[in-house]
Amino acid sequence: ELESVGFIGLGNMGSRMANNLIKAGYKVVVHDINCDAIKMFTDKGVPAKRTPFEVAEASDVVITMLPSSAHVLDVYMGPNGLLHGGSLLRPQLFIDSSTIDPETSRKVSAAVSSFLLQEKKGSWEKPVMLDAPVSGGVFAAEAGSLTFMVGGSKDAYLTAKPLFLSMGKNTIYCGGAGTGSAAKICNNLVMAVSMLGVSEALALGQSLGIGADTLTKVFNSSSARCFCSDTYNPVPGVMEGVPASKDYTGGFASKLMAKDLNLAATSAKEVGLRCPLTSHALEIYTKLCQDGHEMKDFSCVFRHYYFGKDE
Ligand code: NAD
Repeated sequence: ELESVGFIGLGNMGSRMANNLIKAGYKVVVHDINCDAIKMFTDKGVPAKRTPFEVAEASDVVITMLPSSAHVLDVYMGPNGLLHGGSLLRPQLFIDSSTIDPETSRKVSAAVSSFLLQEKKGSWEKPVMLDAPVSGGVFAAEAGSLTFMVGGSKDAYLTAKPLFLSMGKNTIYCGGAGTGSAAKICNNLVMAVSMLGVSEALALGQSLGIGADTLTKVFNSSSARCFCSDTYNPVPGVMEGVPASKDYTGGFASKLMAKDLNLAATSAKEVGLRCPLTSHALEIYTKLCQDGHEMKDFSCVFRHYYFGKDE
């Protein structure tokens, strides 16, 4: 019943996710404010719409994959936005896969459910929204192997599952509105802190006379073993194929990590929870960006923060 899919935000992630929906046989219409992004699709015969509102008029479900909270608010609530005018909507489901703060996810979800559906769909009278950010970068988006962490109504989650599985291989239902966004920023907070921990320890080890490759072997068969030591090692040459061994290119940009840590720090403040590691990690990543490494993979903290080498 979810045949017509509107996709908004055709950037690094969104363009690949939309392609996988098309491959899976969904009838997709697209929108972006960047003409070049749209052209990739119109060249293949995929229809483009001029505004989010026109996308909504043509879709059973709308998916957004935008840079940040402000863009999501604009696309939903702005002039000619998805929720522009009237009190009736065609799409029964809205899915936002952008990484944004849980507060904004809940706010937009509440706005969506203040509408009614143009046509009743089974037991659905109101449109619903899911926050469904993803883990896995551009390569996982291309390969259709993303993980979706999903907040909102459980029924809507089950209805949307086939869509998620056309773009990813794992889906996890997290709870009510905003919990998908919460899961995403918590995941990236762990990743940031563990990258700093592994980098700090490998830098200290080197200064104490043990090479990073040997110390990594110790970690990987001891209790320090983690994603940042055994899959995404930050020291050039220790592992093949990781950003560290490609001059910290590809991978997950420091500026995106700084953005996600900012979301975690802001959310922590809102609920009055002390999160000193988040604050400190945010400071370090903000400094890396200021020093000109914002486009480098976030594992570049090993070279550019601990060693301050700017070659
Ligand atoms: P991107 O900047 O490459 O793409 C965003 C797209 O949204 C662009 O094409 C832009 O033109 C479009 N856009 C911006 N404002 C718009 C508007 N008002 N209306 C229509 N289109 C608009 O970003 P990305 O790397 O694809 O990331 C998207 C989201 O996914 C971000 O929230 C990011 O944090 C998250 N994310 C990214 C990665 C990654 O590795 N890149 C991994 C996981 C999650």
